Amino acid sequence: MLSPRTFLVAALVTQASVFATTVYLHRVLAHRALTVRPGVAMVFRVIIWIMTGISPRAWVAVHRRHHAFSDTPQDPHSPIQLGFWAVQLGNVKLYRDTIRDGVTVSKYSRDLPPDRLDRMLFDHALAGLAIGIGFLMVLLGPVAGLLAAGIHTVAYLGISAAVNAVGHTFGKRSYDNLATNNQWLAWISGGEGLHNNHHAAPTSARFALDRGQIDPGWWLIRLLLRTNQAEVRHEEIKLKQPAA
Ligand SMILES: [Zn+2]
Ligand SMILES: [Zn+2]
Repeated sequence: MLSPRTFLVAALVTQASVFATTVYLHRVLAHRALTVRPGVAMVFRVIIWIMTGISPRAWVAVHRRHHAFSDTPQDPHSPIQLGFWAVQLGNVKLYRDTIRDGVTVSKYSRDLPPDRLDRMLFDHALAGLAIGIGFLMVLLGPVAGLLAAGIHTVAYLGISAAVNAVGHTFGKRSYDNLATNNQWLAWISGGEGLHNNHHAAPTSARFALDRGQIDPGWWLIRLLLRTNQAEVRHEEIKLKQPAA
């Protein structure tokens, strides 16, 4: 039941979700650091829909507010304001509370109005998750499929929370902001662990800025660039803050 195959499938689903989150939700939509061709965008939209249950519009709005008010009382998920565990364990609730305030999404995601496919499919989070879990149950059998879905849920939510909690608490502050760099977190989060760099250069498509840093999300972007499926907004790194 809890076979290596179940773990492997869960890990692949988690990494697919992690890469769709960092490349598409974060770098393409939230910061416009790069653009991708419609076919690539569609693959990312489907992954986000069936594997995460996230509304891109809502995620982007919460994230943009995080950058606008980083580590101040208006930051939706600052561990410096709320405490480490409140963010590491309560990340989903913090997003949900912010989305439900009736202001954040309309104010910060004005450029992302829902299209026809959103209204028909992608805005129905539970339907997407049901399809995703259904796929796993067909692939692995009902019990192992549910187990894989459970493992993926814990891993994906844990990694996403760690970017916000660990990524503003522990690690190296190379640039003059309160976010931190953790290479171990970058390995499992598609590069998001280089969070101090990201706050210093939010419109950069590449998060690795110093020697020895590795941003796996950039590997996928480089593949998309080489196959003419994406374009970065600017090649040079535009720093908001100086090196600390
Ligand atoms: Zn941050
Ligand atoms: Zn960001």
